Amino acid sequence: MSAPRDRTAPAATNGSPPNGLQPAPRQRISDYVYEEVLKAILDERFRPGERLSIPDLANEMDVSQMPVRQAMDRLAEEGLVEVRPRSGTFVAEPEERDIADTFDLRRALDGLAAETAVLHVTDKDISYLDATVDRMDEYAAAGNAGMQDHDRLNWEFHLFIVRLAGNEKLYEMYQQLNAHLKIASIHVSNHDWADRVPLAQREHREMVRALARRDAKSLAMVLAEHVERAKNALISDIRAVRSRSVDTAKST
Ligand SMILES: [Zn+2]
Repeated sequence: MSAPRDRTAPAATNGSPPNGLQPAPRQRISDYVYEEVLKAILDERFRPGERLSIPDLANEMDVSQMPVRQAMDRLAEEGLVEVRPRSGTFVAEPEERDIADTFDLRRALDGLAAETAVLHVTDKDISYLDATVDRMDEYAAAGNAGMQDHDRLNWEFHLFIVRLAGNEKLYEMYQQLNAHLKIASIHVSNHDWADRVPLAQREHREMVRALARRDAKSLAMVLAEHVERAKNALISDIRAVRSRSVDTAKST
């Protein structure tokens, strides 16, 4: 056992600074690894439930295993990967309950954002948001070909409102929650996507109008309904996908 004073002694690793601070280049590498793996998860190159091999990832990215481990720790803290003792690291596979909880949290954060977004919003911001909703309409009119761009703009629209709130912590947390929800929606086919768009778009317009009136209460209310419906839609999509895969398993 080491004596307590050893804790303040320089780390044994060669070249480590005496205060346990990470050298900058290594930190940048682990940030890079984090971004790359997160991108691969969100692009479905790694599927929910898939095992991630630290040595393989390190080889592929031509880095040592340490930054990969650091990146995995961060992804695990954010709930995006799961570390199972003695079996490895896996891409998270959110359960229905996790999804519902995440949406509820997102709804709360949207409500919090609404409170201060109305204090900071400018007329220029309102024009930008209006134009964003117009562009979403254009993509929606293109049918399935426009789905991805529509979704991207939808996310930019909501993130913009959260950024208007001017709370950095809130903004970061909001982005983390979205990563969870994206993972949750990976298996979902979105077959009735086009049917859901008109109502969602009416709500987006209502949000812009509430911002223009600097009306936090109305903004929070329409956001809450919007997020609640997105939650129910995703959960019912996931149920449909899972019951289909059970049927397939039964018939084979
Ligand atoms: Zn939306």
